[in-house]
Amino acid sequence: MSINNNNITIEHLTVSYQGQKALVNISLQVSAGKITGIIGPNGAGKSTFLKGMLGLLKVDSRTVFIGDQPLNTQKKRIAYVEQRSALDLSFPINVLEVVLLGTYPKLGIMKRPGKKEKEEALAALKTVQLEEFAKRQIGELSGGQLQRVFIARVLAQKADIIVLDEPFVGIDMTSERVIMDILKQLKEAGKTILIVHHDLHKVTHYFDEVIILKKKLIANGPVATTFTNKNIQLAYGDTMGDIIIKGVADT
Ligand code: ADP
Ligand code: MG
Repeated sequence: MSINNNNITIEHLTVSYQGQKALVNISLQVSAGKITGIIGPNGAGKSTFLKGMLGLLKVDSRTVFIGDQPLNTQKKRIAYVEQRSALDLSFPINVLEVVLLGTYPKLGIMKRPGKKEKEEALAALKTVQLEEFAKRQIGELSGGQLQRVFIARVLAQKADIIVLDEPFVGIDMTSERVIMDILKQLKEAGKTILIVHHDLHKVTHYFDEVIILKKKLIANGPVATTFTNKNIQLAYGDTMGDIIIKGVADT
């Protein structure tokens, strides 16, 4: 394995909650420099997969490498935005302060952000088109604005690997387009992007590769060969077959 290989390699990821298995023995690689979508029905274990991969919860088994380095030694290279319902929006913090949090991992625990960090945070807010909201409390933003603030925090963090859990739920089309444009630019700059997403209509537009989960790994790989009707039905069942969403033709 070459030193420049930044693929994420996950082996034997198994997670249980109170003795019930939520994810069973997932092994796969996430390709560096690509946008990978994670899909699967409600409760399939998508959020659990991200948290388990990142070492944010207790797992039954797990080996995760970035290139040839254990993930645990590479955490500063990773930016993670968790699913929004999990966040406490009544916390009194303004937009600029949230974005500045992105600079903390690089600063180290004892340092306060200075002029340089503030300039970087403001530049990130400008990229997501929210510079005039810097002093606004986060509880006073729309869902789409809030998600753009989290993307600004990711930008301020200057991470190589960007992990987003359902970033497009409950947001407006403009915010979704702004965010997706930024993610595509980040990909062009060589970043690795992993997104949990529930809207199957967008899979072929948004992602290069896809991971299809339902407690187990149903399939993963390039969208063109993986996002097939057969795999969609394996994950979602027959009911989805007619309503949706044509996967690419089965081969
Ligand atoms: P998804 O993100 O695909 O909707 P999750 O990863 O959130 O799915 O959840 C997978 C399964 O694990 C679900 O059955 C869910 O109810 C269960 N689960 C998730 N978090 C917990 C928890 N903290 N305690 C107990 N069960 C949980
Ligand atoms: Mg989830």
